[in-house]
Amino acid sequence: MAQTISYITGSQLLPLKRLPNIAIIDVRDDERSYDGHIAGSLHYASGTFTDKISNLIQDVKGKDTLVFHCALSQVRGPTCARRLAYHLEELKEDTGIKNILVLERGFNGWEASGRPVCRCTDIPCKGESA
Ligand SMILES: [Zn+2]
Repeated sequence: MAQTISYITGSQLLPLKRLPNIAIIDVRDDERSYDGHIAGSLHYASGTFTDKISNLIQDVKGKDTLVFHCALSQVRGPTCARRLAYHLEELKEDTGIKNILVLERGFNGWEASGRPVCRCTDIPCKGESA
């Protein structure tokens, strides 16, 4: 069970993000629609995160590593990551989620380092571009 939240850098994430066991969870609110996003990431806005936490768990079935981020990964990303970790502890059910990570420097850091940004409007993002 994942109790501790660790950080992962963009350069560590880049080669991992295509692996089938990893889900990237964007918890930004409206910024996602105009700033672009990491290809293949799921969107669970921080404002409604708690209400949709069961949907999220369904959505990431088969993934053992979840990577959270917001714009800077300073407040919303780590908060939602902890909220999920706490929820999993309370659930006492094996969801298969083993690692809960936060992307260091968030989406803004990712984009500032020149890493690929997807600007599709598909929900969910199919993540094929970039
Ligand atoms: Zn996309």
